[in-house]
Amino acid sequence: MLKRKPMVAGNWKMNGSLELVQSISSTVKNINNQDVEVVVIPPTVLLSDVIASGVVAGVQTVSEHSEGAYTGEVQASLVKSLGATYTLVGHSERRSIFGESNEDVANKFAQAQANGLTPILCVGETESQREQAQTEEVVAEQIIAVIDKLGIASLANSVIAYEPVWAIGTGKTATPEQAQAVHKFIRNLVSKYDADISETLQILYGGSVNESNSELLFAQADIDGGLIGGASLKPESFKVICESA
Ligand code: PGA
Repeated sequence: MLKRKPMVAGNWKMNGSLELVQSISSTVKNINNQDVEVVVIPPTVLLSDVIASGVVAGVQTVSEHSEGAYTGEVQASLVKSLGATYTLVGHSERRSIFGESNEDVANKFAQAQANGLTPILCVGETESQREQAQTEEVVAEQIIAVIDKLGIASLANSVIAYEPVWAIGTGKTATPEQAQAVHKFIRNLVSKYDADISETLQILYGGSVNESNSELLFAQADIDGGLIGGASLKPESFKVICESA
């Protein structure tokens, strides 16, 4: 079996400062785990500072357009030229607050890849969808929207982050068993299209990951690391989480 490289990505959302860039970067350099890929995803205006500090960086979203009259948007080509490696696409806050549909998300995924950024596709169900046993259906739809538009090969250069919406910023983490079950479902779904891609695809868990629960979550067979919100703003917590991957 192929060994997948663990990844821990810190999604700062609309938080952080130049000071935090400096303290995260010195903490990241002291992480005692050679295997893990650590990524910092700050607000886009801090992207160059994160990169200059020597940390692998991404952005939280990119425009689905390549350039033009789209005030306030940021194009993937520019993000790439500044030295970013990743972009989130379809984070649940983008879907719910900014109304991004599965089709919009697929378009952003395409823009990212066309410009050499690796998309981290975020998927996950709301609390009521889980209560109605719709988790698998919702997650499958979110992933198949990308496969239908761009083909299964597009997933070879991407990362998936499973983030149950009810666990994001709530302190209610999925149990390792609940998370593993969905990660396994995702891997099986992808394997129906392409077994090799499903083996190498990194699938991260996100939703109230902290320094006390990360180790058990990351120990699950199909969990390849995490997408960390709140705890990524605390350098010491982020370090412990990265070391547990
Ligand atoms: P959280 O956020 O760790 O604060 O729950 C995760 C995310 O939204 O990516």
